[in-house]
Amino acid sequence: PSPDDPPYLSGLNAPQREAVLTTEGPVLVLAGAGTGKTAALTARLAHLLFTKRAWPSEILSVTFTNKAAREMRHRVGRLVGDVVEGMPWLGTFHAIGAKMLRRHAELVGLQSNFTILDTDDQLRLLKQLITAADLDEKRWPARALGGLIDGWKNKGLTPADLDAGESELYANGRGKELYAAYQARLIALNACDFGDLLLHMLVILKRDREVLKMYQERFKYIMVDEYQDTNSVQYLWLRLLAQEHKNICCVGDDDQSIYSWRGAQVENILKFEKDFPGAAIIRLEQNYRSTPHILAAASGVIANNSGRLGKTLWTDEPDGEKVKVIGVWDGPEEARRVGEEIESCQRAGKSIDDIAILVRAQHQTREFEDRFISIGMPYRIVGGFRFYERAEIRDALAYLRVVAQPADDLAFERIVNVPKRGLGDKAVQKVHQLARAEGIPLATAAARILDTDELTPQARRAFGNLVGDMARWRALANDTPHPELARQILDESGYTAMWQVEKSAEAAGRLENLTELVRAMEEYESLTAFLEHVSLVMDNEAAAEEAKVTIMTIHAAKGLEYDTVFLVGWEEGLFPSQRSLDEGGLASLEEERRLAYVAITRARRRAVIIHAANRRIYGQWTSSIPSRFVGELPDAHTESESSMSGGESLWRANWSERADPFADVARGTGRGPGWQRAAGVNPGGSFTSRTFTREPSRVVESRASAVSIGNKGRSD
Ligand code: ATP
Ligand code: MG
Repeated sequence: PSPDDPPYLSGLNAPQREAVLTTEGPVLVLAGAGTGKTAALTARLAHLLFTKRAWPSEILSVTFTNKAAREMRHRVGRLVGDVVEGMPWLGTFHAIGAKMLRRHAELVGLQSNFTILDTDDQLRLLKQLITAADLDEKRWPARALGGLIDGWKNKGLTPADLDAGESELYANGRGKELYAAYQARLIALNACDFGDLLLHMLVILKRDREVLKMYQERFKYIMVDEYQDTNSVQYLWLRLLAQEHKNICCVGDDDQSIYSWRGAQVENILKFEKDFPGAAIIRLEQNYRSTPHILAAASGVIANNSGRLGKTLWTDEPDGEKVKVIGVWDGPEEARRVGEEIESCQRAGKSIDDIAILVRAQHQTREFEDRFISIGMPYRIVGGFRFYERAEIRDALAYLRVVAQPADDLAFERIVNVPKRGLGDKAVQKVHQLARAEGIPLATAAARILDTDELTPQARRAFGNLVGDMARWRALANDTPHPELARQILDESGYTAMWQVEKSAEAAGRLENLTELVRAMEEYESLTAFLEHVSLVMDNEAAAEEAKVTIMTIHAAKGLEYDTVFLVGWEEGLFPSQRSLDEGGLASLEEERRLAYVAITRARRRAVIIHAANRRIYGQWTSSIPSRFVGELPDAHTESESSMSGGESLWRANWSERADPFADVARGTGRGPGWQRAAGVNPGGSFTSRTFTREPSRVVESRASAVSIGNKGRSD
């Protein structure tokens, strides 16, 4: 470092400087979490502008989220002052794709004012096409087709590129035909879906030499953050655009590749050297974010993955606190515990803006939201809706509301045709007219209209069923426990089934949320009390400028950092997720482990990992065993605490007894007296949870005895 260094260089270490100053030629920065990859990329952008190597409009910079793009724009602005007059090509792949496509829309038959469809529109369109193709939408759901089409687009495949094998994935080989029909329909509507923003541009770049040439010449420099999570179409884009100047700098970390379910290809890192021969490979090894204990904990977990590129990480920071591992009794205690810890941070004068709770699955936020509402702790949910604002939760609540309160017209309107019962707009209109004319609620009007001859036979049947169902549910409400009632309503209305027929990850998440909703109801004494609670929660929007605890999924936390991070629900079946255990094999387990690595490395000073011994699902207690990732944390860097005295240490001792205990269980040999018994595992059977019907006694000495109490009530 020299005293004449421009501001953006001061404070960078040697390899970071190299990443900034190696402006010409391909550069790959491969480095672990918190080593200053994003910081180096930001400085590099500042450097290119400051030294006038390029105008802002000649640099393509890709970030993973819009928020990251805003931050980078802001920081570069600060580093180089007002040199930055707009950065037109700084953003996510999708934002950049949309901008380019507007300029060249006509080349794929669109107009520049094309609309971008959301998922709902997309599905509606697909349904029409499926029906028009004489296929049974129940058997071949639109969502399944939508998922396939997204996947093809992520791979950069147009309908013409599909081979028979891909096409075979939908309706006995009709995938290709429907994909083509969908694309044609979109063009006719002057519309695009999200995937098209990249796919259309890829087609244009491949087909139109002049356009390609123009962009190749324009982008003197290309930079990509979070490169490990680029998918094929994005990769193909980059490769084409970088051909002219070859000044492409990608930064990433193979251990943080967590989007393969969305088509991301970590292999793109490996391909880089092949596609750009002579690329400079820069490794950053000093971590500036976390304490040694946190780093060692994260490294200990990720070391269990195979096929890593391998990296060294060290830090100069003082040791700090060990990673805390807390075993709690159940979900509510987990939320209470986190609430208390946060309050004590507050008392110590820390800002709660610097605290995050990271969950594996969206539905886990609910328990924390409810707790925070009741103790008046301001919170924000990042990268998703607050629990009670999610579409499927609102739908479910609407059903409950019309049952509890027949005059609730808004609720009635929301569910009248969800799931689809073949009610056209006309039929619904007629009910509205009758309700207005007579001054009665919609639900009443729907019943009364059955006595008239206003309806087509189909609409009549549909309304008849709905009205009949509602009457039955209302009658049930008197003597059925309200969570049970809710479950019946969701099943009998076909609402649950609507999500079940769809096999996507998103649908699975929605089903989990519905389960979580029913679970939440158990905490209230009546349906009315629960609905009142919900309306209070909905109203609880904290003031914008107020400090807030952040709650979000690990996926959404990528690239971010917080002083204190709570990592909750570290239990087998929750994290790693049941899905990854059931269907995924080693690859998806390793992706879960990378998520664990991302999660731990978000913490600067304090990481607290929590696992609960029991979770309640549909009124049944399920005992869970701590995540294998807890077992992988190196002892020297963690400090365990259990509200069930001794259980934790007993459990940990049992874990370390063998290298891969689950291998045995999965094979069903179940040998060895140790950990399976302690953890309540049934060798050869379902080893992630055990269900029993009675609430286990609270007075237990250890996890082992907790489980044996549970076993008494078991139904198997
Ligand atoms: P991730 O893999 O999580 O995306 P990253 O490698 O992008 O992490 P950054 O977010 O850029 O890491 O940096 C991590 C933290 O270290 C930030 O707080 C950043 O300001 C700080 N930092 C980066 N480089 C340096 C440096 N040379 N000196 C001091 N602090 C630094
Ligand atoms: Mg980063």
